[in-house]
Amino acid sequence: MIPIAKPFLGEDEKAAVLDVLLSGMLSQGAKVKEFEESFASFVGTKYAVATSNGTTALHAALLAHGICSGDEVITTPFTFIATANAITMTGAKPVFVDIEENTFNLNPNLLEAAITEKTKAILPVHLFGRSADMKKIQEIAEKHNLLVIEDACQAHGAATNNQNINPNTNQKVGSFGTACFSFYPTKNMTTGEGGIITTDNFAIAENLRKIISHGSSQRYYHDFVGYNYRMTDLAAAIGIVQLKKLNYFNLQRKQNAQYLNEQLRTIKGIKVPENVSGHVFHQYTIIITPDFGYTRDQVKSFLTEKGIGSSVFYPLPIHQQKAYESYNNQSFPVTEKLSQQVLSLPVHPLLNGEDLQKIVNAIKELSY
Ligand SMILES: *Cc1c(COP(=O)(O)O)cnc(C)c1O
Repeated sequence: MIPIAKPFLGEDEKAAVLDVLLSGMLSQGAKVKEFEESFASFVGTKYAVATSNGTTALHAALLAHGICSGDEVITTPFTFIATANAITMTGAKPVFVDIEENTFNLNPNLLEAAITEKTKAILPVHLFGRSADMKKIQEIAEKHNLLVIEDACQAHGAATNNQNINPNTNQKVGSFGTACFSFYPTKNMTTGEGGIITTDNFAIAENLRKIISHGSSQRYYHDFVGYNYRMTDLAAAIGIVQLKKLNYFNLQRKQNAQYLNEQLRTIKGIKVPENVSGHVFHQYTIIITPDFGYTRDQVKSFLTEKGIGSSVFYPLPIHQQKAYESYNNQSFPVTEKLSQQVLSLPVHPLLNGEDLQKIVNAIKELSY
Protein backbone atom coordinates (compact mmCIF):
# COMPACT_ATOMS: atom_id res chain seq x y z
CA MET A 1 0.00 0.00 0.00
CA ILE A 2 1.31 3.47 -0.89
CA PRO A 3 0.36 5.47 2.23
CA ILE A 4 -1.24 8.92 1.94
CA ALA A 5 1.31 10.22 4.47
CA LYS A 6 4.49 8.89 6.04
CA PRO A 7 6.88 10.65 8.42
CA PHE A 8 10.45 10.83 7.07
CA LEU A 9 12.59 9.75 10.03
CA GLY A 10 16.14 8.50 10.07
CA GLU A 11 19.22 7.78 12.14
CA ASP A 12 19.69 11.47 13.06
CA GLU A 13 16.30 11.64 14.77
CA LYS A 14 16.99 8.34 16.55
CA ALA A 15 20.33 9.61 17.85
CA ALA A 16 18.81 12.93 18.95
CA VAL A 17 16.07 11.18 20.95
CA LEU A 18 18.54 8.79 22.49
CA ASP A 19 20.72 11.72 23.63
CA VAL A 20 17.77 13.25 25.46
CA LEU A 21 16.76 9.89 26.98
CA LEU A 22 20.27 9.31 28.27
CA SER A 23 20.50 12.86 29.65
CA GLY A 24 17.56 12.08 31.94
CA MET A 25 16.07 15.54 31.25
CA LEU A 26 12.85 14.60 29.53
CA SER A 27 10.57 17.58 30.07
CA GLN A 28 11.03 21.14 28.80
CA GLY A 29 14.64 22.31 28.75
CA ALA A 30 17.56 23.23 26.50
CA LYS A 31 16.29 21.31 23.45
CA VAL A 32 12.99 23.18 23.43
CA LYS A 33 14.85 26.49 23.65
CA GLU A 34 17.13 25.52 20.76
CA PHE A 35 14.18 24.37 18.67
CA GLU A 36 12.26 27.58 19.35
CA GLU A 37 15.23 29.70 18.30
CA SER A 38 15.86 27.77 15.11
CA PHE A 39 12.17 27.72 14.15
CA ALA A 40 11.80 31.47 14.73
CA SER A 41 14.85 32.11 12.60
CA PHE A 42 13.53 29.79 9.86
CA VAL A 43 10.17 31.61 9.71
CA GLY A 44 11.73 35.04 10.16
CA THR A 45 10.21 36.08 13.48
CA LYS A 46 11.92 37.22 16.66
CA TYR A 47 10.23 34.66 18.92
CA ALA A 48 8.74 31.20 18.87
CA VAL A 49 7.00 29.39 21.72
CA ALA A 50 6.75 25.60 21.45
CA THR A 51 3.62 23.78 22.61
CA SER A 52 2.25 20.26 23.03
CA ASN A 53 0.42 20.31 19.66
CA GLY A 54 -1.09 22.59 17.02
CA THR A 55 -4.46 22.83 18.75
CA THR A 56 -2.93 24.06 22.00
CA ALA A 57 -0.78 26.47 19.97
CA LEU A 58 -3.94 27.97 18.43
CA HIS A 59 -5.77 28.09 21.76
CA ALA A 60 -2.84 29.77 23.53
CA ALA A 61 -2.31 32.24 20.65
CA LEU A 62 -5.95 33.37 20.78
CA LEU A 63 -5.81 33.68 24.57
CA ALA A 64 -2.56 35.66 24.41
CA HIS A 65 -4.34 38.22 22.24
CA GLY A 66 -7.19 38.46 24.73
CA ILE A 67 -9.80 36.65 22.63
CA CYS A 68 -12.60 35.56 24.94
CA SER A 69 -16.31 35.05 25.40
CA GLY A 70 -18.34 37.67 23.53
CA ASP A 71 -15.80 37.95 20.71
CA GLU A 72 -16.13 36.69 17.15
CA VAL A 73 -13.28 35.24 15.10
CA ILE A 74 -13.66 34.81 11.35
CA THR A 75 -12.32 31.62 9.80
CA THR A 76 -12.96 28.99 7.12
CA PRO A 77 -15.40 26.06 7.42
CA PHE A 78 -13.12 24.01 5.13
CA THR A 79 -10.34 23.05 7.56
CA PHE A 80 -9.46 20.56 10.26
CA ILE A 81 -11.89 20.89 13.19
CA ALA A 82 -9.09 22.09 15.52
CA THR A 83 -9.12 25.54 13.88
CA ALA A 84 -12.70 26.18 14.97
CA ASN A 85 -12.34 24.30 18.25
CA ALA A 86 -9.47 26.53 19.38
CA ILE A 87 -11.75 29.56 18.91
CA THR A 88 -14.62 27.83 20.73
CA MET A 89 -12.29 26.84 23.59
CA THR A 90 -11.65 30.54 24.35
CA GLY A 91 -15.40 31.15 24.67
CA ALA A 92 -15.42 33.20 21.46
CA LYS A 93 -17.62 32.38 18.49
CA PRO A 94 -16.22 31.13 15.18
CA VAL A 95 -17.79 32.92 12.21
CA PHE A 96 -17.35 31.11 8.92
CA VAL A 97 -16.67 32.61 5.51
CA ASP A 98 -16.66 30.55 2.30
CA ILE A 99 -13.50 29.64 0.38
CA GLU A 100 -12.11 30.23 -3.10
CA GLU A 101 -12.50 27.28 -5.44
CA ASN A 102 -8.95 27.41 -6.87
CA THR A 103 -7.04 27.86 -3.58
CA PHE A 104 -9.27 26.13 -0.98
CA ASN A 105 -8.56 29.16 1.25
CA LEU A 106 -10.70 31.95 2.75
CA ASN A 107 -12.24 34.12 0.04
CA PRO A 108 -11.11 37.63 1.00
CA ASN A 109 -13.93 39.18 -1.02
CA LEU A 110 -16.45 37.71 1.42
CA LEU A 111 -14.68 38.82 4.59
CA GLU A 112 -16.09 42.30 5.05
CA ALA A 113 -19.69 41.11 4.97
CA ALA A 114 -18.94 38.86 7.97
CA ILE A 115 -17.43 41.59 10.16
CA THR A 116 -19.57 42.81 13.07
CA GLU A 117 -18.77 44.99 16.08
CA LYS A 118 -17.91 41.79 17.96
CA THR A 119 -15.27 40.69 15.46
CA LYS A 120 -11.80 40.67 17.03
CA ALA A 121 -9.69 38.59 14.65
CA ILE A 122 -9.38 36.88 11.30
CA LEU A 123 -7.91 33.37 11.45
CA PRO A 124 -6.85 32.34 7.94
CA VAL A 125 -5.72 28.75 7.33
CA HIS A 126 -3.00 28.06 4.76
CA LEU A 127 -4.74 24.89 3.68
CA PHE A 128 -2.82 22.02 2.06
CA GLY A 129 0.42 24.09 2.19
CA ARG A 130 -0.77 27.03 0.08
CA SER A 131 -0.70 30.50 1.58
CA ALA A 132 -4.01 32.28 2.02
CA ASP A 133 -4.26 35.71 0.35
CA MET A 134 -2.42 37.51 3.16
CA LYS A 135 -2.16 40.82 1.33
CA LYS A 136 -5.92 41.26 1.02
CA ILE A 137 -6.60 39.75 4.44
CA GLN A 138 -4.16 42.17 6.07
CA GLU A 139 -5.63 45.15 4.24
CA ILE A 140 -9.11 44.28 5.49
CA ALA A 141 -7.82 43.59 9.00
CA GLU A 142 -6.07 46.95 9.15
CA LYS A 143 -9.10 48.81 7.83
CA HIS A 144 -11.33 47.28 10.54
CA ASN A 145 -8.68 47.18 13.27
CA LEU A 146 -8.70 43.38 13.57
CA LEU A 147 -6.00 40.92 14.60
CA VAL A 148 -4.73 38.34 12.14
CA ILE A 149 -3.72 34.98 13.62
CA GLU A 150 -2.51 32.44 11.06
CA ASP A 151 -3.25 28.73 11.21
CA ALA A 152 -0.08 27.55 9.48
CA CYS A 153 -0.44 23.98 10.79
CA GLN A 154 -0.19 22.63 7.22
CA ALA A 155 2.25 25.16 5.83
CA HIS A 156 5.78 24.88 7.28
CA GLY A 157 8.04 26.80 4.91
CA ALA A 158 5.21 28.01 2.66
CA ALA A 159 5.29 31.57 1.35
CA THR A 160 2.88 33.99 -0.26
CA ASN A 161 2.56 33.91 -4.02
CA ASN A 162 3.42 37.33 -5.34
CA GLN A 163 5.16 35.90 -8.38
CA ASN A 164 3.46 38.36 -10.70
CA ILE A 165 5.03 41.17 -8.69
CA ASN A 166 8.43 39.81 -7.72
CA PRO A 167 9.09 36.27 -6.49
CA ASN A 168 11.84 37.56 -4.20
CA THR A 169 9.28 39.50 -2.19
CA ASN A 170 7.41 36.34 -1.22
CA GLN A 171 7.00 36.34 2.54
CA LYS A 172 7.01 33.15 4.60
CA VAL A 173 3.74 32.25 6.28
CA GLY A 174 3.96 32.48 10.04
CA SER A 175 5.66 35.88 9.88
CA PHE A 176 2.61 38.15 9.48
CA GLY A 177 1.75 38.59 13.15
CA THR A 178 1.06 35.63 15.36
CA ALA A 179 0.93 32.18 13.77
CA CYS A 180 0.57 28.55 14.78
CA PHE A 181 2.15 25.37 13.42
CA SER A 182 1.56 21.68 14.17
CA PHE A 183 4.15 18.90 14.18
CA TYR A 184 1.74 15.96 14.02
CA PRO A 185 3.34 13.00 12.15
CA THR A 186 1.45 13.65 8.89
CA LYS A 187 2.58 17.30 8.61
CA ASN A 188 5.49 18.56 6.49
CA MET A 189 7.77 18.04 9.52
CA THR A 190 7.10 16.28 12.82
CA THR A 191 8.03 16.05 16.49
CA GLY A 192 5.62 13.16 17.16
CA GLU A 193 3.01 15.49 18.61
CA GLY A 194 3.92 19.15 18.94
CA GLY A 195 3.16 22.71 17.97
CA ILE A 196 4.71 26.17 17.93
CA ILE A 197 3.62 29.81 17.90
CA THR A 198 5.70 32.40 16.04
CA THR A 199 5.55 36.14 16.71
CA ASP A 200 7.60 39.34 16.60
CA ASN A 201 5.81 40.71 19.65
CA PHE A 202 7.83 40.33 22.86
CA ALA A 203 4.86 40.89 25.20
CA ILE A 204 2.78 38.28 23.35
CA ALA A 205 5.67 35.78 23.51
CA GLU A 206 6.08 36.34 27.25
CA ASN A 207 2.34 36.03 27.82
CA LEU A 208 2.32 32.80 25.77
CA ARG A 209 5.09 31.30 27.92
CA LYS A 210 2.93 31.89 30.98
CA ILE A 211 -0.31 30.65 29.36
CA ILE A 212 1.29 27.32 28.41
CA SER A 213 2.82 26.87 31.85
CA HIS A 214 0.08 27.38 34.46
CA GLY A 215 0.22 31.17 34.33
CA SER A 216 3.69 31.11 35.75
CA SER A 217 7.06 32.58 34.81
CA GLN A 218 8.66 31.74 38.12
CA ARG A 219 8.10 28.23 39.41
CA TYR A 220 5.23 27.94 41.94
CA TYR A 221 4.19 31.59 41.53
CA HIS A 222 1.10 31.89 39.33
CA ASP A 223 -0.25 35.16 37.91
CA PHE A 224 -3.41 33.58 36.44
CA VAL A 225 -4.96 30.18 35.76
CA GLY A 226 -3.10 28.77 32.75
CA TYR A 227 -2.51 25.41 31.14
CA ASN A 228 0.17 22.78 30.76
CA TYR A 229 0.68 23.01 26.99
CA ARG A 230 4.47 22.63 27.03
CA MET A 231 6.56 20.73 24.49
CA THR A 232 9.03 18.15 25.81
CA ASP A 233 12.77 18.04 25.07
CA LEU A 234 12.19 14.60 23.51
CA ALA A 235 9.87 16.14 20.92
CA ALA A 236 12.06 19.20 20.41
CA ALA A 237 15.12 17.00 19.74
CA ILE A 238 13.23 15.41 16.82
CA GLY A 239 12.10 18.86 15.66
CA ILE A 240 15.63 20.28 15.56
CA VAL A 241 16.70 17.52 13.17
CA GLN A 242 13.51 17.65 11.09
CA LEU A 243 13.72 21.42 10.63
CA LYS A 244 17.15 21.03 9.01
CA LYS A 245 15.58 18.70 6.43
CA LEU A 246 12.39 20.71 5.88
CA ASN A 247 13.54 22.52 2.74
CA TYR A 248 14.51 19.18 1.21
CA PHE A 249 11.15 17.61 2.22
CA ASN A 250 9.26 20.54 0.70
CA LEU A 251 11.26 20.42 -2.52
CA GLN A 252 10.43 16.71 -2.89
CA ARG A 253 6.74 17.45 -2.29
CA LYS A 254 6.82 20.21 -4.89
CA GLN A 255 8.54 17.99 -7.46
CA ASN A 256 6.09 15.15 -6.83
CA ALA A 257 3.21 17.61 -7.27
CA GLN A 258 4.78 18.93 -10.46
CA TYR A 259 4.98 15.40 -11.89
CA LEU A 260 1.39 14.55 -10.92
CA ASN A 261 0.22 17.86 -12.42
CA GLU A 262 1.94 17.17 -15.75
CA GLN A 263 0.42 13.70 -15.93
CA LEU A 264 -3.09 14.46 -14.68
CA ARG A 265 -3.85 18.00 -15.89
CA THR A 266 -5.16 16.97 -19.31
CA ILE A 267 -7.60 14.37 -17.99
CA LYS A 268 -11.20 15.41 -18.58
CA GLY A 269 -13.10 16.02 -15.35
CA ILE A 270 -10.01 16.40 -13.14
CA LYS A 271 -8.77 19.74 -11.82
CA VAL A 272 -5.22 19.71 -10.49
CA PRO A 273 -3.88 22.19 -7.92
CA GLU A 274 -1.96 25.23 -9.14
CA ASN A 275 1.76 24.79 -8.46
CA VAL A 276 2.25 28.42 -7.46
CA SER A 277 5.52 29.56 -5.94
CA GLY A 278 5.51 29.22 -2.16
CA HIS A 279 3.16 26.18 -2.18
CA VAL A 280 4.64 23.36 -0.06
CA PHE A 281 2.01 20.71 -0.87
CA HIS A 282 1.13 19.43 2.56
CA GLN A 283 -1.58 17.73 0.50
CA TYR A 284 -1.88 17.23 -3.25
CA THR A 285 -5.60 17.67 -3.71
CA ILE A 286 -7.46 17.18 -6.97
CA ILE A 287 -11.08 18.05 -7.74
CA ILE A 288 -13.08 15.31 -9.45
CA THR A 289 -15.96 16.95 -11.30
CA PRO A 290 -19.02 15.12 -12.69
CA ASP A 291 -17.33 15.20 -16.16
CA PHE A 292 -14.86 12.55 -14.98
CA GLY A 293 -17.52 9.82 -15.13
CA TYR A 294 -16.80 8.37 -11.69
CA THR A 295 -17.56 10.00 -8.37
CA ARG A 296 -14.88 10.95 -5.90
CA ASP A 297 -15.84 8.04 -3.63
CA GLN A 298 -15.66 5.59 -6.56
CA VAL A 299 -12.18 6.87 -7.44
CA LYS A 300 -11.10 6.50 -3.83
CA SER A 301 -12.32 2.87 -3.65
CA PHE A 302 -10.62 2.05 -6.95
CA LEU A 303 -7.31 3.48 -5.68
CA THR A 304 -7.62 1.42 -2.49
CA GLU A 305 -8.07 -1.74 -4.60
CA LYS A 306 -4.90 -0.80 -6.47
CA GLY A 307 -2.96 -0.40 -3.22
CA ILE A 308 -2.90 3.39 -3.31
CA GLY A 309 -3.84 5.36 -0.21
CA SER A 310 -5.88 8.52 -0.68
CA SER A 311 -7.87 10.71 1.67
CA VAL A 312 -10.73 13.18 1.73
CA PHE A 313 -9.86 16.47 3.42
CA TYR A 314 -12.53 17.23 4.44
CA PRO A 315 -15.67 15.15 3.88
CA LEU A 316 -17.89 17.20 6.21
CA PRO A 317 -17.41 20.98 6.52
CA ILE A 318 -17.31 22.29 10.08
CA HIS A 319 -20.66 24.09 9.85
CA GLN A 320 -22.29 20.73 9.04
CA GLN A 321 -20.68 18.83 11.93
CA LYS A 322 -22.79 17.61 14.84
CA ALA A 323 -20.32 19.36 17.16
CA TYR A 324 -21.37 22.66 15.51
CA GLU A 325 -25.09 21.95 15.43
CA SER A 326 -26.10 25.59 15.80
CA TYR A 327 -24.36 26.28 12.45
CA ASN A 328 -26.09 23.42 10.58
CA ASN A 329 -28.58 25.77 8.90
CA GLN A 330 -25.81 27.96 7.43
CA SER A 331 -24.66 27.49 3.87
CA PHE A 332 -21.24 27.86 2.23
CA PRO A 333 -21.75 26.64 -1.33
CA VAL A 334 -18.12 26.40 -2.53
CA THR A 335 -17.07 24.52 0.61
CA GLU A 336 -20.06 22.20 0.37
CA LYS A 337 -19.45 21.41 -3.30
CA LEU A 338 -15.72 20.83 -2.86
CA SER A 339 -16.19 18.59 0.17
CA GLN A 340 -17.96 16.20 -2.25
CA GLN A 341 -15.33 16.47 -5.00
CA VAL A 342 -11.86 16.71 -3.39
CA LEU A 343 -9.46 13.81 -3.17
CA SER A 344 -5.93 14.04 -1.79
CA LEU A 345 -3.33 11.76 -3.39
CA PRO A 346 0.04 10.78 -1.88
CA VAL A 347 2.67 13.52 -2.39
CA HIS A 348 5.02 12.94 0.58
CA PRO A 349 8.81 12.89 0.13
CA LEU A 350 9.16 9.11 0.58
CA LEU A 351 7.39 8.37 -2.74
CA ASN A 352 9.60 7.01 -5.49
CA GLY A 353 9.18 7.23 -9.27
CA GLU A 354 7.44 3.87 -9.38
CA ASP A 355 4.87 4.96 -6.76
CA LEU A 356 4.10 8.13 -8.71
CA GLN A 357 3.73 6.17 -11.94
CA LYS A 358 1.37 3.75 -10.23
CA ILE A 359 -0.84 6.60 -8.98
CA VAL A 360 -0.98 8.20 -12.43
CA ASN A 361 -1.68 4.89 -14.19
CA ALA A 362 -4.56 4.08 -11.86
CA ILE A 363 -6.29 7.40 -12.49
CA LYS A 364 -5.65 7.19 -16.23
CA GLU A 365 -7.11 3.67 -16.28
CA LEU A 366 -10.38 5.03 -14.86
CA SER A 367 -10.50 7.90 -17.32
CA TYR A 368 -10.54 5.71 -20.46
C1 LIG B 1 -3.15 19.57 12.15
C2 LIG B 1 -3.93 20.81 12.19
C3 LIG B 1 -4.27 21.46 13.38
C4 LIG B 1 -4.04 20.89 14.74
O1 LIG B 1 -2.83 20.37 14.99
P1 LIG B 1 -2.64 19.19 16.08
O2 LIG B 1 -1.16 19.19 16.25
O3 LIG B 1 -3.16 17.94 15.45
O4 LIG B 1 -3.36 19.56 17.30
C5 LIG B 1 -4.92 22.68 13.30
N1 LIG B 1 -5.26 23.21 12.12
C6 LIG B 1 -4.99 22.60 10.95
C7 LIG B 1 -5.39 23.26 9.67
C8 LIG B 1 -4.34 21.37 10.94
O5 LIG B 1 -4.10 20.76 9.78
